[in-house]
Amino acid sequence: MRKISADFVYTIDENPIENGVVIVNNSGKVLGVDIRSNHQKSELEIYEGIIIPGFVNTHCHLELSHMKGKVDTGTGLIPFITEVVQQRSSDEQVIHEAIVVAEREMLDAGIVAVGDISNVIDTFAVKAENKLRYSTFIEFFDFLQNTNAQSEFKKYKEVYEKLNLPSGHKKSCVPHAPYSVSANLFELINEVNLEFNSTISIHNQETVPENQLFLDKSGDFIDFYSRFGISLNDFEPNKKPSIHYALQHMNPRLKTLFVHNTISTSEDIQVAQTWGSDVFWATCPNANLYIENNLPDYKAFIDNDAQMTIGTDSLTSNWQLSILEEMKTIAKYQSYVPFQTLLQWATLNGARALGFDDELGSITIGKTCGLNLLYNLNHKGELGPATQVKRLI
Ligand SMILES: [Zn+2]
Repeated sequence: MRKISADFVYTIDENPIENGVVIVNNSGKVLGVDIRSNHQKSELEIYEGIIIPGFVNTHCHLELSHMKGKVDTGTGLIPFITEVVQQRSSDEQVIHEAIVVAEREMLDAGIVAVGDISNVIDTFAVKAENKLRYSTFIEFFDFLQNTNAQSEFKKYKEVYEKLNLPSGHKKSCVPHAPYSVSANLFELINEVNLEFNSTISIHNQETVPENQLFLDKSGDFIDFYSRFGISLNDFEPNKKPSIHYALQHMNPRLKTLFVHNTISTSEDIQVAQTWGSDVFWATCPNANLYIENNLPDYKAFIDNDAQMTIGTDSLTSNWQLSILEEMKTIAKYQSYVPFQTLLQWATLNGARALGFDDELGSITIGKTCGLNLLYNLNHKGELGPATQVKRLI
């Protein structure tokens, strides 16, 4: 048993506790939350800073870790995707080693669970080692080609079948983005997920051209498709922002995680939250700065009571895989977001979005949520530029 204490314990589901103590058994299960004066000082591990539950990273592409530093920053999404498509193949061993290093980085950064996109099987061996809890989103796309839906579906379904992790992990079939999934493919994906209580993630409204494609079939995606020799002759824009197309074809009864949402407006958020009862939003601020040099308007999400979560995206579009660094970026550019709100996005909301809140996301008796120490806080005892994380469990 360990009794771990710090200046404050943020359980997330209750108010912060000054001089709080978290009592855990040898496997890290929370047995109690208390205050220091009820315990002998000699029994306590005392730290300067605050104790929080383990971080949940709701959006990553672990399989792209080998491309760290290979794609330029600030070019915009379409040149970014073009580079990824052209550069992603590499030596098997190089890919594997990069995945191992990236997972280690997440563990050291206090991350306990990951929503991870997979197009291929490259991460499956590492995931099977069970160091982190994974919700793997096997991602499907056919670049809006209804006639290719069946064959593309078959290809990714095979990847899905190959992932067999121990209990505690999850998997689901997910659409890549509104601009890359045809109506037929959406339908095939929906059929697979019907039998499970899955979370469905989709990249959403990451760049202005995405909306333009659906509003009036204009913008840079037209050129992108023609460069890859893909015809858009059969594509009819529905004259609404891209999220409407996704909502039209996704299942509102499933937990849904919209990722990026960099250009989502208050109306977009409302329409999604009216559509489904279990809608979550993942923000990956450092990736948005890396790719588009732009950030979502967090006020619109807060004003609409959106269930926000935080993701790192991949090392192809980020400098590191750290939820703390994502929180710092939000706090730096939109400092009106309260510290406790950010903590909730980084832990409990993420655990709920991935369906892991039975064990993770808050320091609650019975959970094995992981414990992190945040130290070097600012003068208010909150997140500052120098703040660091140390994984305690
Ligand atoms: Zn992504």
